[in-house]
Amino acid sequence: MSDCCSVKSNSKVPDVAACPMNGARSKQVDMLTVRSLVRQLPLGMPNDQYYFCEARDCDVVYFSFDPQAPIFRREHLMVRVGAKETADPIPICYCFGFTRQDIWDEIRSTGKSTVAERITTEVKAGHCACEVKNPSGKCCLGDVTRAAMDGLSVVGTKSF
Ligand SMILES: [Zn+2]
Repeated sequence: MSDCCSVKSNSKVPDVAACPMNGARSKQVDMLTVRSLVRQLPLGMPNDQYYFCEARDCDVVYFSFDPQAPIFRREHLMVRVGAKETADPIPICYCFGFTRQDIWDEIRSTGKSTVAERITTEVKAGHCACEVKNPSGKCCLGDVTRAAMDGLSVVGTKSF
């Protein structure tokens, strides 16, 4: 009945946590993703639940509740974190290498974006690896759609 061990129970951790740096609501991320994308994991790293801060103005990428656990910042990752970059190249889809520039270029020349469709086809064929390639650990399709919508409004195509 003692609750002394409850800290270690992963079922008890909340789905979202506030980033220790800027307080942004951050979603859970798999340890597999953290292990895959952090350049050099410290030895004896605790197997804690990590969270992904996607706030643009924040340098923290991964953090956990455990004060002993390391916090990982942008410079610790092997990839650029698209959500935190304001200068190109801004990666959007990590599995197939689409950047915001690619999406916007297509919109500039054709007036529309087919990237989401192309990714969907690849995903259906089982070719994606978001958990080990995308810093959020999630599928990028939502980000692709958002980037396409941004692109359409920036380019200001009249065909819509
Ligand atoms: Zn943050």
